[in-house]
Amino acid sequence: MDAEAAVLSIDPSSASRMSPMSHQSYGPLVGVPRILGILQRHNVKATFFVPGYTAHRYPQVVRSIAEAGHEVAHHSYFHENTIGMDPKTEADMLDLGLKALQEVAGVRPVGYRAPMWELNYHTPGLLEERGFLYDSSLMDSDQPYRLAVDDKEDKGPERSLIEIPVSWELDDWEQYAFLPGLIGSGVIESPAKALEMWTLALEAMHRLGACFVLTCHPFLSGRPARAEALERLLERMMSLPGLWVTTLAEVARHTASLNLAARTCPQPRMPEGAYWVPRS
Ligand SMILES: [Zn+2]
Repeated sequence: MDAEAAVLSIDPSSASRMSPMSHQSYGPLVGVPRILGILQRHNVKATFFVPGYTAHRYPQVVRSIAEAGHEVAHHSYFHENTIGMDPKTEADMLDLGLKALQEVAGVRPVGYRAPMWELNYHTPGLLEERGFLYDSSLMDSDQPYRLAVDDKEDKGPERSLIEIPVSWELDDWEQYAFLPGLIGSGVIESPAKALEMWTLALEAMHRLGACFVLTCHPFLSGRPARAEALERLLERMMSLPGLWVTTLAEVARHTASLNLAARTCPQPRMPEGAYWVPRS
């Protein structure tokens, strides 16, 4: 539930542009209620990742999500760009987001997703220190796993959290995001194409027993034809034998109960003498 924060963090001056701001506010104002209706019709619970700034701006909407029994999870404070952010600043932003969700909805989230799925190698440690159960920002598996917080393989991981992987393939942003000069690919795909692509992924992942994590922005997927496509996808999900449709928190609790060994994701290091040309 990015709302305006996703655009303001790219270009703060867009705050003075009423029309792009209204494109973003469609999410909480129209998209979220419509998506809540779809979830209710199918008796399904979902996870809503909410930036703290959005929670402060739309407290009633965030409370309606929590009151309907859905999971409210952490998605930064201002949808800030975390690339290269130092640990202290990132920790402060995490704490601001925690405070906002507590103030608005009385929620202490167990899950985190980084803005634009951009984790720093120090981020898992900051999450673990704050008692988070899981993160959902990495892309290196079809299955949830236990992620070692310390990336030094020889040390033996003592601290860990659950990682629930995502993929760009399963994000509505690539299909629908269009705000000239601000965000998106400049292409608006048909909901029929998105539905076909996601259904193929769903069926293939179901055959593998994998974890299908779809990411939908309410200001995009909340539009009528897209919401209908989302409902068709949900119907297909519900028809697949043995498929568990649930929140990421429940997936994380299940994964934690398996007592898996923690995986390390060591940071690549440039080999000595390596030559590279910086991007201009
Ligand atoms: Zn976001």
